[in-house]
Amino acid sequence: MMRFDFKALSDSCECGKEHKLDVRDIYLEPGALDRLPGVLSENQWNSPAILADENTWKAAGEKAYSLLEAEQIKCTSVILPPDGLHADEHGVALAEKDIDREIDVLLAVGSGTVHDITRYIANKCGLPFISIPTAASVDGFVSTVAAMTWKGCKQTFQAVAPLYVLADTDIFINAPRRLTASGFGDLLGKYTALADWRIANLLTGEYICERVIHLTEQALEAVVAAPEDCERIMYGLLLSGLAMQMVGNSRPASGGEHHLSHFWEMEVCNGPLDALHGEKVGVGLLLCAEEYRNIGNTLMRGDAVPISVDGLLEKELESGFPDVAMRDELRRENTPDPLASISGEDILRNSERICEIIDRIPTVSDMTELIRAAGGKITMADIGLDPALKDYSLCYSPYVRLRLTLMRLRKLIK
Ligand SMILES: [Zn+2]
Ligand SMILES: [Zn+2]
Repeated sequence: MMRFDFKALSDSCECGKEHKLDVRDIYLEPGALDRLPGVLSENQWNSPAILADENTWKAAGEKAYSLLEAEQIKCTSVILPPDGLHADEHGVALAEKDIDREIDVLLAVGSGTVHDITRYIANKCGLPFISIPTAASVDGFVSTVAAMTWKGCKQTFQAVAPLYVLADTDIFINAPRRLTASGFGDLLGKYTALADWRIANLLTGEYICERVIHLTEQALEAVVAAPEDCERIMYGLLLSGLAMQMVGNSRPASGGEHHLSHFWEMEVCNGPLDALHGEKVGVGLLLCAEEYRNIGNTLMRGDAVPISVDGLLEKELESGFPDVAMRDELRRENTPDPLASISGEDILRNSERICEIIDRIPTVSDMTELIRAAGGKITMADIGLDPALKDYSLCYSPYVRLRLTLMRLRKLIK
């Protein structure tokens, strides 16, 4: 069984922030699901509801239901159709109609989508929830934010973290390999996410925490040593989720690579993609890492020059986002313009340290090999994207979030 030292993580920290963890216990072990009746009775929860889709119901929901039935615990089951199920207003409405007043705890049985829907409803109804992941596919299990698509726009909502996680190796080991490979891609994306965080901290003094950075690096170390070991991938994903919980947002887990993934999900320049979150993140990571290395090389050569970005935000919103409603939404998202207070000179002055940070990202070829070993997707074409959309994606994806990344900062130099 892999341990999580909640005390050491939430102890007073040099960063000055109180790292409050909502999750009380994480069980990552074969047979973890058997603990469910005990966890419910310990907390005097008597009326649980399982949220699952038809696949995850078969994978774990049924077993959870019969474990509770054996203890005479009446359980509501909300089984959603897996086809076309998304964490959006439709998915929430589907699940919500079966949640009645008597229910005192929600059980999220599934992967990312089921968790985001559950987390959203738990927050709205003021209910606690327990996470029962059926695949090592995303790092959002213990996160406090729900990634939802609302009115066609990808958004993160403040939501609640699960109080318990029962990660049963006997269950998620049987998940389709594609899901686990996707989880691996999501994890590997932390390399560029951490680089973005460090660079933003360097240039703007944005809050950073070395303990959280270290925890995320630990998650990476756990998986790069064995990209096919799904228990390690689950461990890494849970650590990354805890890192997000410790800072209260996704900064440690999401940077330029995730912005590419969100950008493609918004279908600004492409049609609908039949790709999983971590697949898009993995492909985004490789593009991002390649571009960051190019920037590092330019900085190292010393021939970069600062350029003015006056009026650039509005110009690029106009040229990059044809949909007026989406453009309005992004104009709000990008206020205040994160580049307004930084200049190209700031980047040049910090060239050396920025290059050091970029150098900590493994090479594109090493990461490509790792994703391949995990059975994941590598190229834009692998996930159904026209490779000709690369430059467009690199240019406009930073606008999907206010968060400062090197992909955004590169607009300041040429
Ligand atoms: Zn800290
Ligand atoms: Zn992710």
